[in-house]
Amino acid sequence: MNRRNFLKMLGLSALSSLMARQRARAAESILIVGAGIAGISAARMLQAAGFAVTLLEARQRLGGRIWTDNALGVPLDMGAAWLHGERGNPLTALAGAAGIRGFASDFESIALYVRNGQRLPEQQLELAARLVDDLLEELEAAKAQALVDESTSIADILEVLLADQALVDAEKRAVLWLLASEIELELGAEASDLSLLAWNEERAFEGDHLLLREGYGKLIAFLARDLDIQLNAVVSQIAYDGAGVRLTTTDGRIFEADRALITLPIGVLQSGAVAFTPALPAAKQAALQRLQMGLLNKIALRFPRSFWDEEVQRFAYLDEQADDVFEFFNLQVLHQQPILVALVSGRRARQIEAMPSEQAVDRALVNLQRAFGKAIPTPEAFAVTAWHSDPFARGAYSHVPPGARRSDYTELARPVQDRLFFAGEGTLMSYPATVHGALMSGEREAERIIKLSQ
Ligand SMILES: Cc1cc2nc3c(=O)[nH]c(=O)nc-3n(C[C@H](O)[C@H](O)[C@H](O)COP(=O)(O)OP(=O)(O)OC[C@H]3O[C@@H](n4cnc5c(N)ncnc54)[C@H](O)[C@@H]3O)c2cc1C
Repeated sequence: MNRRNFLKMLGLSALSSLMARQRARAAESILIVGAGIAGISAARMLQAAGFAVTLLEARQRLGGRIWTDNALGVPLDMGAAWLHGERGNPLTALAGAAGIRGFASDFESIALYVRNGQRLPEQQLELAARLVDDLLEELEAAKAQALVDESTSIADILEVLLADQALVDAEKRAVLWLLASEIELELGAEASDLSLLAWNEERAFEGDHLLLREGYGKLIAFLARDLDIQLNAVVSQIAYDGAGVRLTTTDGRIFEADRALITLPIGVLQSGAVAFTPALPAAKQAALQRLQMGLLNKIALRFPRSFWDEEVQRFAYLDEQADDVFEFFNLQVLHQQPILVALVSGRRARQIEAMPSEQAVDRALVNLQRAFGKAIPTPEAFAVTAWHSDPFARGAYSHVPPGARRSDYTELARPVQDRLFFAGEGTLMSYPATVHGALMSGEREAERIIKLSQ
């Protein structure tokens, strides 16, 4: 008796048809463009469901905007570093399974320096922080004002709110720095490039924000095990029709499959580096042009000894001209090594990219010298990022500028003819610009493809 008759005899026709569907599914092939967390998470799910999956990755390494670098002797996350909100976050269990230890950041642990080791007194810092909280609440409330629409930027309203405050000297600089840290360093863009209506509308997980001792790279290596990944595969053309997809790389290799999942950063899609045949639908192209890629760069410095307050987790020098806005993170707390990582965003981050790394390091050092005096030691080693010049990132992460709307993210996620699917941090309006968001978008598209073949 053959297998089918045997199953029928047992009255298991439902099981028999399920197995038939699974065989059909197993035959289906999927190409995934990009081996960042979105592509890798989708690949895992699809492979587990029986699909034949191949990832095409332009770089020589996995992870995309997750990049753990060991140049300074410890695993430093030069792209994504925090696991934002450990409660209910799908990354928490995955990081645990990968054997990664988290360190809860305390963003309240902060020191602001005026000059030569002079710290802004605690009382003044508290006053400034309270004022910033009030300003942020007023910004939130301003969304309901009749004059505010999609074209209103955060800066439009913030300028009006600040004009009412009559702030001077160190207090003014502290308020401006705290606002810049809260808005511009967080979102990787100037307040004038951020839509007020879209600001603070995304969802977030509760709980601690964790730095990862072994780095995010360990999570990528854990998730990517057993996957078929072609490195150095720079996709430049994506053709699709009723029969399937055909992807061409810059070195002329051709890959064909039933469907493709595209996880390219929106900056790469906007650059036109990948040509679609036929062209993507007009609504998707319009949404793509409206959204923006922000920029955050990191300057990691390893010193022969620490000269800062080792207990404080983040600090800054309040520049008189409010020209340099660096935020220094003390990684001594994480790695027990004298390492600082400076964050810089928006136009200042673009300036950093336009200069040689040594000059960028000098810029950060001038800030530190103003805060702690000229006698600080010279760094033994450094690493500087350039996420905007990176042809496979074209920026750090997406945001909604004035004139765009959050639903543009949803438009980017819309499949095309059930042949092309789209995932990545720039394709979900509930959790954009994050690692967990990118992960969830990959799983969302994997589920969509699995459902299609059921
Ligand atoms: C400096 C910085 C700090 C950040 N900090 C945090 C943080 O603390 N916490 C947080 O949650 N998020 C953070 N993020 C955001 C987070 O890193 C991203 O949202 C997330 O990693 C995006 O994943 P993805 O898979 O969507 O995209 P990517 O990781 O960019 O993956 C896309 C992949 O496509 C590849 N690719 C590009 N072009 C081609 C091509 N032509 N052909 C083939 N492959 C191509 C890329 O190389 C890349 O591997 C940060 C990002 C940066 C840059």
